[in-house]
Amino acid sequence: MSDAPETLDPADWDAHRAVAHRMVDDAVDYIRDVRSRPVWQDMPPEVRARLREGVPENGQPIHEVYRQIAADVLPYPMGNIHPRFWMWYMGASNFTGALGDFLAAILGSNLGGGDHAAAEIDNQVVGWMKEMVGYPATASGTLVSGGSMANLIGLTVARNTMSGIDLREMGIPALTAPMRLYGSDQIHSCHRIAVEAMGLGNRALRRVPSDAACRMDLSALRTAIAEDRETGLHPACVIATAGTVNTGAIDDLEAIADLCASEGLWMHVDGCIGALLAIAPKGSALVRGIARADSIALDPHKWLHAPFEVGCALVRDAAAHLETFSVTPEYLEAAPRGIASGAWLHDFGLQTSRGFRALKVWMALKEHGLPKFGRLVDQDLAHARYLSDRIEATPELTLCFPTVINIVCFRYDPGGLSETALKRLNTEIMVQMQEAGIAAVSDTTVQGRHCLRAAINNHRTIPSDLDLLAQEAVRLGHAFVPEAAAD
Ligand SMILES: *Cc1c(COP(=O)(O)O)cnc(C)c1O
Repeated sequence: MSDAPETLDPADWDAHRAVAHRMVDDAVDYIRDVRSRPVWQDMPPEVRARLREGVPENGQPIHEVYRQIAADVLPYPMGNIHPRFWMWYMGASNFTGALGDFLAAILGSNLGGGDHAAAEIDNQVVGWMKEMVGYPATASGTLVSGGSMANLIGLTVARNTMSGIDLREMGIPALTAPMRLYGSDQIHSCHRIAVEAMGLGNRALRRVPSDAACRMDLSALRTAIAEDRETGLHPACVIATAGTVNTGAIDDLEAIADLCASEGLWMHVDGCIGALLAIAPKGSALVRGIARADSIALDPHKWLHAPFEVGCALVRDAAAHLETFSVTPEYLEAAPRGIASGAWLHDFGLQTSRGFRALKVWMALKEHGLPKFGRLVDQDLAHARYLSDRIEATPELTLCFPTVINIVCFRYDPGGLSETALKRLNTEIMVQMQEAGIAAVSDTTVQGRHCLRAAINNHRTIPSDLDLLAQEAVRLGHAFVPEAAAD
């Protein structure tokens, strides 16, 4: 046995301190100067090749490792921290949150449970999330990797609670009738994965048509429930969406809550986009009734701009939540005092080991206070209205869909082109903007019409960024029309 066994701790702490200081200095510059860089740029082949090398056999000094990060990684981000990134529905991150992730890793604690400060903070952040949506303190919740997991947690509690049997013990074959869940045809794809993973199958999720405003058609929902009861199925849960991914439509939460109450159904709200409207002075009216849900999925890495990953599942009936996931193997029994005497946070979800993702949310909320995050939500709504007005005032651009929250669907349409040509044209506009590093929007197809889509969930965006988007869409569209119109 050696007197100086191997360890991962550095032999020379001062050298590591110097590299760490340089990383922090570079990180501050990186965020401060983000606007001066392209939103995105393609990786040169030699960089890509280096990032595909096999596992290292020989170590190298930390400053060399960092040199490669600086050269091969930092210049090629996805782009979502840039002020002109508006693809899909992302957050723009924040520096304090990044420090939170760093300190969480320094602490290195496992949030599966136990009695320690990180576990307290995890609980506190879940409590804050409950307050944000208007849930009572008696409700329960858990931080997870993101919205998809948060929805899976909520729907699993719904499934088990509504099954009427000991589903954990007996499994799906013991269900007396096939279970049905309902969501609009605008529902996020993670719900399909959820019902599949829950063993119910994709057909258990009935897609209810949406109306012209992309909200769930409630008379169609009522008809679907009645039909299913008639044919011996078991209607169990309505998934209302507060902010659909295509257009930002918000299902009528009050009416769905009434319907679920009268039909005896579980109400789950997918609030990954819109639940946090509840903290905005102007936006909160859009999600009135959200706190009537039995469970809510929300996504702090979207409208709270926490660095990825952090989602949150909230369940009104804490006992139902615990009964769905709690299990105590002999090696995780609670001790009367000491480290193992705290709450078992793994009892509220699928993970055993859990990271300290609460800290990045906690630090940013402590620094800025909740009202500022609420104002930032309203600011995004105002920016989306600004861009929509701008599009409507530009003859070659068409607003494809009325803007409800911070998602703007539009396209370049000079007139006289087929749908196929328009799709080719707008796809080219989108890709060229990205390749030039100017701006990043995504695309979708809503009610049969292909459109570009700007989800302005970005605390760095300023109005002139949106002017540039409109101008560039027109410029690139104009340049590409002849090619798009060919054949
Ligand atoms: C983003 C999103 C999800 C999935 O959340 P992730 O954090 O990406 O896992 C679910 N539903 C809606 C409406 C979303 O916008």
